Amino acid sequence: MSSSGNDFASVVIRWQRDHGRHDLPWQQTRDPYPVWLSEIMLQQTQVGTVKAYYARFLERFPDMDALAAADLDEVLSVWSGLGYYSRARNLHRCAQAVRDRFGGKWPRSPDVLETLPGIGRSTAAAIAAFCFGERVAILDGNVRRVLSRVLGFDSDLSKAANQRALWALAEQLLPVDHLRQTMPAYTQGLMDIGATVCRARGPDCGACPVASVCTARRDGDPHAYPVRSRRLSRSAQFLWLLWAVRADGSVWLERRPTPGVWAGLYCLPVFTSWDALTSSVAAPGSATLECLPVVVHALTHKDLSLHPVRIPMAGGQLTPGDGGEWFSAARWPGLGLPAPIRKILSAAG
Ligand code: SF4
Repeated sequence: MSSSGNDFASVVIRWQRDHGRHDLPWQQTRDPYPVWLSEIMLQQTQVGTVKAYYARFLERFPDMDALAAADLDEVLSVWSGLGYYSRARNLHRCAQAVRDRFGGKWPRSPDVLETLPGIGRSTAAAIAAFCFGERVAILDGNVRRVLSRVLGFDSDLSKAANQRALWALAEQLLPVDHLRQTMPAYTQGLMDIGATVCRARGPDCGACPVASVCTARRDGDPHAYPVRSRRLSRSAQFLWLLWAVRADGSVWLERRPTPGVWAGLYCLPVFTSWDALTSSVAAPGSATLECLPVVVHALTHKDLSLHPVRIPMAGGQLTPGDGGEWFSAARWPGLGLPAPIRKILSAAG
């Protein structure tokens, strides 16, 4: 493309001012705490969903100190439903690291930010650009798509060397003046173009502010970018859930091991086969097993097919396993439970 980095940045900044998003709740601040929180929540979740969780999280943990001092179970509970729980565990660890390593004051250098738990290169760059006006490039999924189309970057982004090459090109496009004002607007502008104009399917090139310098548009093939040869295929996994319930309605829940699916959350005991489930209860023959409707839950690269099996426990003489506890229905809302498990339990009323 012929446009200099500064020309490109000016176009993006002007477009952001006139046509970009300005009403997102985390845009009205330069405080790193809410900006960081929004960046982590947005990593795997759509804006529409994030808004409600973001407000709820800030209400419960209004600042870094409150989050750092909180119990992990409570953090997981407030996060419950957003999925990808390693994000919540890292939020908690990161808050404690900022408190313990930096006296509660966020570092402004992206290189230092990247040393904190759960903060990758693009998230570090976003915090540094939005909050401190640092001249640093973000490259999240949306921005990677926009820039690879604009630049006609046709190298395979599943290779680390090619990713580094695209980062280097992204850095050349950054604004050069008045960074405290231009960096937040430019960063937001690229994010907005990716989210609202240069969409993965159906890019709206007619409404795009950088169409005149876009290689993919000139060649008539935006869908050819970004190039990524290694595609992850989806798989399916069948899991049996032991739903041991006492006469008073309390349910046996165990904390899931770390690492793994739903690590650190409370869950019905999970088994990979029917036989493993039935042999885990002391006297399955004397209990009535009730197979409930299957619930399919989609993770990033796999579908979980969940088979709940309800077993009434008479007077607690059957013990499903160690490492768990009987929880009454009144305690479920305060627990960090995976979303599908919460759904299964609430369906039982
Ligand atoms: Fe994307 Fe089209 Fe804009 Fe190029 S012109 S950046 S392909 S929307």
